[in-house]
Amino acid sequence: TVSVALFTSDLRLHDNPVLHAAVRDADAVVPLFVQDDGIRRTGFDAPNRRAFLADCLVDLDAGLRRRGGRLVVRSADVVAGACAVVAETGADSLHIAAGVSGYAREREERLRTALGAVGCALHVHDAVVTALPPGLVVPAGRDHFAVFTPYFRRWEAAGVRGTLTGPRTVRVPDTATSAPLPTRAEVTGVSPGLAEGGETAGRRLLTSWLHGPMADYGTGHDDLAGDATSRLSPFLHFGCLSAAELVHRAREKGGPGADAFVRQLAWRDFHHQVLAARPDAAWADYRPRGDRWRSDPDEIEAWRAGLTGYPLVDAAMRQLAHEGWMHNRGRMLVASFLTKTLYVDWRVGARHFLDLLVDGDLANNQLNWQWVAGTGTDTRPNRVLNPLIQGKRFDPRGAYVRRWVPELAGLDGAAVHEPWKLTGPDRARLAYPEPVVDLAEARARFERARGLG
Ligand code: FAD
Repeated sequence: TVSVALFTSDLRLHDNPVLHAAVRDADAVVPLFVQDDGIRRTGFDAPNRRAFLADCLVDLDAGLRRRGGRLVVRSADVVAGACAVVAETGADSLHIAAGVSGYAREREERLRTALGAVGCALHVHDAVVTALPPGLVVPAGRDHFAVFTPYFRRWEAAGVRGTLTGPRTVRVPDTATSAPLPTRAEVTGVSPGLAEGGETAGRRLLTSWLHGPMADYGTGHDDLAGDATSRLSPFLHFGCLSAAELVHRAREKGGPGADAFVRQLAWRDFHHQVLAARPDAAWADYRPRGDRWRSDPDEIEAWRAGLTGYPLVDAAMRQLAHEGWMHNRGRMLVASFLTKTLYVDWRVGARHFLDLLVDGDLANNQLNWQWVAGTGTDTRPNRVLNPLIQGKRFDPRGAYVRRWVPELAGLDGAAVHEPWKLTGPDRARLAYPEPVVDLAEARARFERARGLG
């Protein structure tokens, strides 16, 4: 018998229920990745993610080869590509991870119909992408939690599934032919500081994280200059690392840092269970508030380019452009600045993030944007983050700003957060813009728009 393990957001050998079942249940297995025309058409395969994905596929192939197998890659509509491989190899079962987006669900339905017609069984595996499957814990009479704290209580009590070891050997039938693997070098428009992708790089980073910086995560995660978060998000997005394994390994280590880290992993599951229940929330307001968003093209462009005149906002936006990644505190600030200070539709910001973020993820990105914009699950939808106060708290010495905004690198200490206070020739020498907006006026405008006094 032959089975197909169709990889999607689970590009790993360790703790992969899809690959585990495919290898266990058949004599030979086709480890398949289809570069999906459908995803390409949506524009979701932005350069940074394409480059990281190429690394992931090359690494997955190398890992399979060490076990006697190899990765089979096709470029096609995912259902057509999978069915072609099933026909060529005579496979009688196909395994895939359950997805949460509308697109993933539709893919699953189309596979079910197409494979059913040729007598090939479809096996959909839960808790591959998330630690707990969406829908496993729900409040009475509802299909998802809309508030994180009660969700987290139930999430902790439910317990995450045990982890699986990777296969020792993988036998691939000769009839399974592959297109050449994509490479990072083929992708243009990649951010210069983009991290290396793949399970090997992810496991290396995970090991150093667990044995070092995680201990201080509880107190240090908001320190922008300290850069003291795990940076594991792209590896989780592509499934190079398993969320369930991360929960177990962090808990094994223990301590307040591990607890805080596990809580963030639960946030990831939380947003996934919201999107699974409300796939429309990818682009529609989760809780419409009647916002009549502003749309000033110059202000939006200044935000995108990191030229708003607010150093902390600009530093974060430039980190995004350079690395394809941004610190969570930066993400919250720039999203609040766009949606509340400039009062621009959150979809404009979410789109820009998806164009650049290497971890750009429909559930996490869209629902975090909605959370910050106040159209989502935040229980304080009208809070506005002030870049000056955020600077004092999370970049008190200004080191983060100096790192990312070279025009301001000559300013000492916290003065870097308020360059407009300079006068005379000192100000004239700075090639840095005036603020695009007055914070007090912007706040009053937002409060009027939301009908707050
Ligand atoms: P850590 O602080 O080390 O956290 C560990 C892991 O927990 C992360 O890798 C991530 O998987 C998860 N996590 C942490 N915070 C959150 C959160 N608020 N929501 C969901 N999961 C979380 N995360 C993405 O993975 N993809 C996105 O597209 C994305 N877009 C965002 C957009 C906005 C406007 C905001 C405010 C947040 C967004 N996040 C997104 C969440 C968060 O900022 C990133 O997951 C985090 O910064 C990644 O860095 P890290 O791996 O070092 O995180």
